Amino acid sequence: MKDVMKRNQIKPWITRNITLVAHDNQKEELLDWSKKNRGLLSRHNLFATGTTGALLADCLDLPVHRFLSGPLGGDQQIGAAIAEGKIDVLVFFWDPLEPQPHDPDVKALLRIATLWNAGIAVNRTTADLLITSALFEADYPTKRPNFTGGAERSTLVDAN
Ligand code: PGA
Repeated sequence: MKDVMKRNQIKPWITRNITLVAHDNQKEELLDWSKKNRGLLSRHNLFATGTTGALLADCLDLPVHRFLSGPLGGDQQIGAAIAEGKIDVLVFFWDPLEPQPHDPDVKALLRIATLWNAGIAVNRTTADLLITSALFEADYPTKRPNFTGGAERSTLVDAN
């Protein structure tokens, strides 16, 4: 098995779909954090809301799939992608000091991400702890709740 990995036939890590979002007062912090973690981020698929994504693509020189800007529906698009199992991790530096025009969308995104068991980091400390976990790039698939009879949730099951 190790030989196969050495020959790069099997990746020894999981490629995760990571979404990065920052409110305006937090964008500098997220950019700084992302620059420091560019090496790890470059091994995964990156997604972001519109403005955050443009800034990230520019400063990291990496491809970033951009949803709409948060206030224009980007948070809702990300929530939908999480519900569809297309996003594993949400790094969301939201602003605890400033009301946002799209506060209901922010709450909805955090609810959906929690409901579908996405990895969520809401500030620099949790982002650091999340991405430095030995499980982050290990063969540890995201588990999702198994809804059988409507909103009755059973145990978490492997997503893949
Ligand atoms: P933005 O959106 O990246 O387009 O600024 C972020 C947000 O407010 O959710």
